[in-house]
Amino acid sequence: MTDPFKNAMLQLNKAAKIMGLKKDFLKSLSQPKRILKAEIPITLDNGKKVKFKAFRVQHNNRRGPYKGGIRFHQQVSLEEVKALSFWMTIKTSVVGIPFGGGKGGIIVDPHKLSKTELERLSRGYIKAFYKYIGPKVDVPAPDVNTNSQIMDWMTDEYTKLTGKKQPAVITGKSIAAGGSLGRNTATADGGFFILMNLVKKLKMKPKNTRVIIQGFGNVGGNMADSLYHAGFKIVGVSDATTAIIDPKNKGFDSHVIEKIKEKHGRVDICTCEKIYCQCKNHKHIIKEKLLEYPCDILILAALENQITKTNVKKIKAKIILELANGPTAPQAEPELLKKGVIIIPDVLANAGGVTVSYFEWLQNMKNQKWSQNQVKTKLKPIMIKAFEQTQKNAKRYKTDLRTAAFISALERIIK
Ligand code: NAD
Repeated sequence: MTDPFKNAMLQLNKAAKIMGLKKDFLKSLSQPKRILKAEIPITLDNGKKVKFKAFRVQHNNRRGPYKGGIRFHQQVSLEEVKALSFWMTIKTSVVGIPFGGGKGGIIVDPHKLSKTELERLSRGYIKAFYKYIGPKVDVPAPDVNTNSQIMDWMTDEYTKLTGKKQPAVITGKSIAAGGSLGRNTATADGGFFILMNLVKKLKMKPKNTRVIIQGFGNVGGNMADSLYHAGFKIVGVSDATTAIIDPKNKGFDSHVIEKIKEKHGRVDICTCEKIYCQCKNHKHIIKEKLLEYPCDILILAALENQITKTNVKKIKAKIILELANGPTAPQAEPELLKKGVIIIPDVLANAGGVTVSYFEWLQNMKNQKWSQNQVKTKLKPIMIKAFEQTQKNAKRYKTDLRTAAFISALERIIK
């Protein structure tokens, strides 16, 4: 697989060249400020002792504390965490929130652990790194395979180790533990606000617009709900195991798929309760093929490097919304741009999550509680402003939206 950090540096260098970024400054962004590594020991329920490799990468804090999620996945690597931490530096700057960029990860398949083992591992992560995090130093959050329960364990462990109750040390907590209303849907909401703005500008009608969603997790599932309610036709979805398409192009009901996913852990069990069913409700296809299925909007909400040189020629979407981080390989992007595909880049499209994380941090610091409506009302103008600034830069520098978003971010970091 392509090295995600090298890919991220290709994107940085492209923007740096167009805007004439000073060499020293470019160099300072080409490496994280600090890389922390640990081996986390835990005792499994059967008494066996095992160790898991873990990372925390602190990329840049010029604009505020390092900020970024913690990923639990068997494919986590240092290069991946470095790339994700760099994208966080860009992302927090694109939306203008006072944070820098960081990221963490553990090489583990969390589905193979029991709940108690997962708790020990989550607490172990904080034991390893608690001296390097804090509300004004580095503020972790959830990412792939981590959730509010894990953030609660981590926050509790931090309190135990430091003797100080500081909920602002971690965001994405449960509401009871100081989390923000609206955080759960924030990434999808942010992407949705931008997409609606674009769809309006392009005079596209939701009822005639076919959407495909890769990844039906927190972000993809919530996005599906918003799109379904706005009247879009969701004609295909996938998860880590499989994919389904709607052969009749009528569009899926997101709530039905959600129920199926909740009950069976995969999206392709039909309402008739059969896997690989070919009945009227859906058609089963190989998940990799879903990206090539005809649609107007392709939403990428799974992992990085999904559109590559191998499949780029077969992509038929006119708009790609990157809710996942790094889903389009830089080697594949020129082909899409040549075809006139509009790519709304990850650092902008999925920045709603970190923006509401900032809201959570603010509420914790000020001991406030905002309503869900307050959160959404504050989120929307931030996302639209960032999108408009990006479009302005794209025009000014005659470049694509990703490079334009990078330029917006870099200009802000320099200031
Ligand atoms: P999640 O674990 O809830 O969901 C991920 C989904 O992707 C799951 O349904 C999984 O089955 C599916 N998936 C994994 N590999 C796949 C594949 N090869 N093909 C199709 N589906 C696949 O994670 P999430 O929080 O929804 O995050 C999804 C993406 O969005 C990640 O790239 C993450 O970094 C990014 N992101 C998330 C947030 C957030 O707030 N959660 C914020 C910014 C970016």
